[in-house]
Amino acid sequence: SIPVIAIDGPTASGKGTIAGRVARELGYNYLDSGAIYRVLAVAALAHGLFPESESDLRKLDALAASLPVEFRADRIYLGGKDVTESIRSEEAGTMASRLAVIPSLRGHLLQRQRDFRRGSGLVADGRDMGSVVFPDAALKVFLTASAQTRAERRHRQLIERGESADLAVILADLQARDKRDTERAVAPLKPCEGAHVLDCSDMSIDEVVNTVKAWYLKA
Ligand code: C5P
Repeated sequence: SIPVIAIDGPTASGKGTIAGRVARELGYNYLDSGAIYRVLAVAALAHGLFPESESDLRKLDALAASLPVEFRADRIYLGGKDVTESIRSEEAGTMASRLAVIPSLRGHLLQRQRDFRRGSGLVADGRDMGSVVFPDAALKVFLTASAQTRAERRHRQLIERGESADLAVILADLQARDKRDTERAVAPLKPCEGAHVLDCSDMSIDEVVNTVKAWYLKA
């Protein structure tokens, strides 16, 4: 079957950058699974739906089941509208992590993620790629870095995008999101069975990419 490299880890650990690079170098497809949760979040925000409300939850289920998301030429569309930038906001990220605790919503997004497994291979990044979505992955990596390092990276990204950003606020938000992602009952954030754990706090992008590729070639 088509080989999968699963790269899971906490927010801002660099998994997107690493997974995208590894995919390009191997000529594999790339799945940014967090983007799918973020698109659902943007749709929920646009409809004014909140997971804490019982009646909204039914609407969210319907929304997730038929989410009109499309990935085309490095852009992401929701119902034909380009949401590539808007899904990266802190508001979308926070809403994504609130929706991600709901098992039925996760279930609706499963097949959509598995559909990326085509061509010669797939590199998938997220929280549960190795445990739930692609349990038969050829290589499973849990990529992490210290909270401080991750907050500094996220801070730099926001500044580069011309957004205002306060490092202390980002660090607090990141720790709150880690806590929610780690403590949730469904697909909690932790290295899955068989995962290679890599702390990349003091590694360059090239070093991490080469480490992952070397593990894959040995797998
Ligand atoms: O990776 P990213 O920060 O874009 O993901 C946004 C949120 O979506 C995460 O905080 C997490 O709660 C959720 N998520 C998830 N499972 C995935 C990918 C993302 O629960 N595979």
